Amino acid sequence: MASKAPKQQFDCSKCPAYCCSYPTIPVTMRDLRRLARRFELSVEDAERRFTKTASDGTRIMRHRKDHIFPTTCRFLDGDDRSCTVYEDRPQICRDFPSSHRCGYFDFMMWERKQQDDDEYVPVVV
Ligand code: SF4
Ligand code: SF4
Repeated sequence: MASKAPKQQFDCSKCPAYCCSYPTIPVTMRDLRRLARRFELSVEDAERRFTKTASDGTRIMRHRKDHIFPTTCRFLDGDDRSCTVYEDRPQICRDFPSSHRCGYFDFMMWERKQQDDDEYVPVVV
């Protein structure tokens, strides 16, 4: 009998999208082609508008200011905390987290318990 996958221990709907505040979200050429198609842009234009080059030369998602974190990925909806390009998001966003637990979510829930506040959003800059 196949073993059952462990139950998912995080709930993105209760999270302000910590993962989308990560400063260096890599964007591959395949990701860029997908985003370019979505916005009917050339790959070059999509690269210029949506990404920038990190200090180590990696192509990463551009950020913008946020009201919870200092900045988030430019595609995060700042109000409802959802991804506005969900169907066409980069592969790394599809793959995260790679297990049934999310470290960010565990951290948030632990802090909420310490503060005895179900709404508390700990922010580490
Ligand atoms: S940080 Fe974790 S729980 Fe929060 S949105 Fe991202 S994957 Fe979901
Ligand atoms: S593309 Fe979407 S899922 Fe990926 S970091 Fe940006 S807002 Fe988050």
